[in-house]
Amino acid sequence: MNEKYEAVIGLEVHAQLLTESKAFCGCSTKFGNSPNSNVCPICLGHPGVLPVLNKKVVEFTVLMGLATNCTINEKSIFARKNYFYPDLPKGFQTSQYEEPICEHGHINIEFQDGTTKKIGITRIHMEEDAGKLIHDQSYNSLIDVNRCGVPLMEIVSEPDIRSSTEAYLYLTKIKQIVQYLGICDGNMEEGSLRCDANVSVRLKGEKKFGTKTEIKNMNSFRNVERAINFEIDRQIEILEDDGKITQETLLWDADLNQAFSMRSKEEAHDYRYFPEPDLMPVIVNEDWKNEISRKMPELPDERKDKLILKYNLPKYDAEVLTQTKSIADYFEKVIETTDDYKSASNWIMTDVLKVVNDEKIDIQDFSVQPENLGELLNLIKNGTISGKIAKEVFQEMLKENRTPSEIVKEKNLVQISDSVEIERIVETVLTNNKSQVKQYINGEEKVFGFFVGQVMKETKGKANPKTVNELLRKKLELLKS
Ligand code: ADP
Ligand code: ZN
Ligand code: MG
Repeated sequence: MNEKYEAVIGLEVHAQLLTESKAFCGCSTKFGNSPNSNVCPICLGHPGVLPVLNKKVVEFTVLMGLATNCTINEKSIFARKNYFYPDLPKGFQTSQYEEPICEHGHINIEFQDGTTKKIGITRIHMEEDAGKLIHDQSYNSLIDVNRCGVPLMEIVSEPDIRSSTEAYLYLTKIKQIVQYLGICDGNMEEGSLRCDANVSVRLKGEKKFGTKTEIKNMNSFRNVERAINFEIDRQIEILEDDGKITQETLLWDADLNQAFSMRSKEEAHDYRYFPEPDLMPVIVNEDWKNEISRKMPELPDERKDKLILKYNLPKYDAEVLTQTKSIADYFEKVIETTDDYKSASNWIMTDVLKVVNDEKIDIQDFSVQPENLGELLNLIKNGTISGKIAKEVFQEMLKENRTPSEIVKEKNLVQISDSVEIERIVETVLTNNKSQVKQYINGEEKVFGFFVGQVMKETKGKANPKTVNELLRKKLELLKS
């Protein structure tokens, strides 16, 4: 990026709410049902029907507003946003316009070096989704209206974001919050979280914002970053050539790594917004607001602080373990069985998450039960097995759902801590490897590792490493003198 310029970015995020029924009718929101089966006269906008607002939609959006430090407006109203498109049988989208339910919030994003930045949230409003057009290869377009009326919340940020990295951190935080709240699954690839990026550039030091463009159609976090970088570079190039930025909407093409102009920007007045006559204003009084706020779960930042303060984990660990609610839950379940917090963290961050990531599953579906992992850590801690044997036991645990104690017993893996037995093996190893012993005596310290290896081989890895080290050292030093 050209150093003379600075980017200004505002994000509009649409999050599909995890309600069972649609926003204004009783139709199911279930994904994957056969096309055009989740429909009724209301979500198809037949004349004379009356929508009824789903209470859950309000509760979920208020929860998000509270989690992002917004003011919850006691009164908010729905509006019709009128436009024609084949996937919108009603001819308008029921949304909120002048009086949204949540306003004036913010979240904090955190950079790698630990510094934070506050990103303002202009508003969060409730609205409904449109249907889906499917274009086949023989010029036919098919319409599936199952998604019509599925509830969304739109989170609009202030133009406080200054780079694609900040946009990425902001989005990650939003995703984390909705997942912790359990109000949206946050899956960008599947479209349950969607993001439009508004981008402009200006000379550094300039107070006024430049003309912005809006990029749509990014279906992953990486693509949001790439699209923003592409657009920043494109705009700077135009300005450097003394050109002017046209206010327009662009579509991101992930295959070509480019954005293409879709249409010149429509203005709010093009939509002929007007208050929805068929829906009452939404009133969220103090009582209801308090009732919702009592359902507020621990949020990612609180959870992270708890892991650091209560369980003494390094900040890095706390971040990895709280990246999703289910990982944090798994950790907290493991430490109900063991008090070795740091080992629990290490095992989850490496062994557990490796399998979870390789198999592309959620840790909720991970085959090793948290209490079994806790028990495994206890077996290491109380000396029953070594850390090395524990890795073997863990592999067995992955294969079938058995407790580590059962596996240790059945495979006869209990650690040999009996020093008389280890001493006997140490002596055999030293007698059988005279030339290495000579090397040691002549000052070649590094053959020590060889002896440890031999003893471990004799005991199939079961000897207590600490005892082996101590006994070997003692015997060898005796031979030296
Ligand atoms: P519009 O009227 O085009 O919908 P809004 O003012 O409602 O624009 O803002 C939409 C989004 O664009 C918000 O996220 C806002 O922060 C962002 N935004 C507004 N102005 C700019 C700008 N000049 N550059 C980048 N983003 C902007
Ligand atoms: Zn319906
Ligand atoms: Mg707007």
